[in-house]
Amino acid sequence: MNCKKVRELILTDYLDDQMSAREKEALEQHLAQCQLCKKLASNARKVGDELFADAGRIDPPEFIWHRIKRAVTAGQQKKMSFLENFWVRKQTFAVATALTLVLMIGVMMQFRINDQRALQAGLEDQVGYFADLTAGPADLSMEPREGLGTSVEEYFL
Ligand SMILES: [Zn+2]
Repeated sequence: MNCKKVRELILTDYLDDQMSAREKEALEQHLAQCQLCKKLASNARKVGDELFADAGRIDPPEFIWHRIKRAVTAGQQKKMSFLENFWVRKQTFAVATALTLVLMIGVMMQFRINDQRALQAGLEDQVGYFADLTAGPADLSMEPREGLGTSVEEYFL
């Protein structure tokens, strides 16, 4: 640690005792070897001590404590109302989700019922169609008839 850095630290962090143990040790090693920096350190400490020697302790007036208390209480209430607000929103979200699920299930069941009805109707149609095909009107049969041939050929010719 050089003199410039040591003197800068003496006037700032060293007097305020705001240095890490490692930094403080390095600075004090320098002070043990360097008389100029050691002198600066002791003078700075003396000046600092003298400056605050006459400064007595001042108790803040009562009203300041009331203001601080009011501000803290207001801050706590604000925090509480935020939490309550969050809780209400959470419940609303849960109810909305449940309603949506019920609605979706209802719609899906309705579709399933409709599908089954459509399937039933479709099956009935097909059964009817096949029944028509097998029973079939006589003139749609492929049996050869007198004259021009089958009824289909007859139709086109
Ligand atoms: Zn020095």
